[in-house]
Amino acid sequence: MPIKYSAPSCTDHLARYPLAFLPTPLHPLPRVSAAIGGSDLKVELWIKRDDQTGLAGGGNKTRKLEFLIADALAQGADTVLTVGAVQSNHCRQTAAAAARAGLACHLVLGGAPPAQANGNLLLDRLLGAKTHWTTPDNRLARLAELADELRAAGHRAYSIPYGGSDAVGASGYALALEELRAQCSEVGLEPDLIVIPSSSGGTQAGLVAGRWVLGWDVPILGISVDGEEDHLRGSVAELATKTAAHLGRPRAFSPEEILVCADYLGAGYGVLGELERNAITLLARAEGILIDPVYTGRAFGGLVDLLRRGIDRYAAPRGASLNIVFWHTGGAPALFAYASELTS
Ligand SMILES: *Cc1c(COP(=O)(O)O)cnc(C)c1O
Repeated sequence: MPIKYSAPSCTDHLARYPLAFLPTPLHPLPRVSAAIGGSDLKVELWIKRDDQTGLAGGGNKTRKLEFLIADALAQGADTVLTVGAVQSNHCRQTAAAAARAGLACHLVLGGAPPAQANGNLLLDRLLGAKTHWTTPDNRLARLAELADELRAAGHRAYSIPYGGSDAVGASGYALALEELRAQCSEVGLEPDLIVIPSSSGGTQAGLVAGRWVLGWDVPILGISVDGEEDHLRGSVAELATKTAAHLGRPRAFSPEEILVCADYLGAGYGVLGELERNAITLLARAEGILIDPVYTGRAFGGLVDLLRRGIDRYAAPRGASLNIVFWHTGGAPALFAYASELTS
């Protein structure tokens, strides 16, 4: 499939290992827009389909992994290792990326192995990753220890951070913003706001750095999945600063310029509530699109609520309607691990 980037692109100087089918589709959500628009404010919702990156179920980690795997290969690695929750989409995509690149893959998962592997964990196994279990609090320590063990055993191990979120991985989202901008100009769309779920912050940081590099002034709102507003703003600003430097366009970002909404943390990370359930069924039944219980369900539910309550603190329409691009970051394989809660 041809990759239609405007040449040159902002990551041309960085090594990239192609894993994704790009560009991912951008399309309108007419039925959902009609269902949620207020009487005085016309809302036009669009969706950017990074659930369709094509790598073993897709998702936002694929774009980060294009740069992380290239870096691992440049360093002569034969093994990658990373860390996540039991139902980590990042671990599943890392397992698939490693398979594609001919690398061994080790995953440190926080929690206890279920009697029957399902959802992303089942896919990790099918993709040939070796899983290592520890408590959620001990995950990062176990990752460092495992890297030492693998190196002591003679492997050339490349450690990928939680969520793939360092400057190397986040660069994938600077390139993604460039892709989105080209698509918007093709269809004549001027977004007033981009909305994404934000957790380890790498996706948002890459978009923020990309906006700076491209000189595009579109606001980028991260709906927090699991972190308090101040904490997430700080980590996105720090990582955006590192990413801009990595892209060769240094600039220091401050937490105050990062848009984060942390009103929808519910009962915590991965806990499915009414907000997520309603968002999942709304998009499924109005548009035939599957979002996920942990990230996109929470972020889309949050967006719907913000539109009802008033979203003017984040964006104002420049034309006749408020044009919003919701970034679908993937995650639907985790739906199967929530079967009993979704059907009750
Ligand atoms: C990891 C993930 C996110 C969050 O991305 P960060 O870069 O960690 O903020 C959002 N959506 C899905 C489906 C994910 O798997």
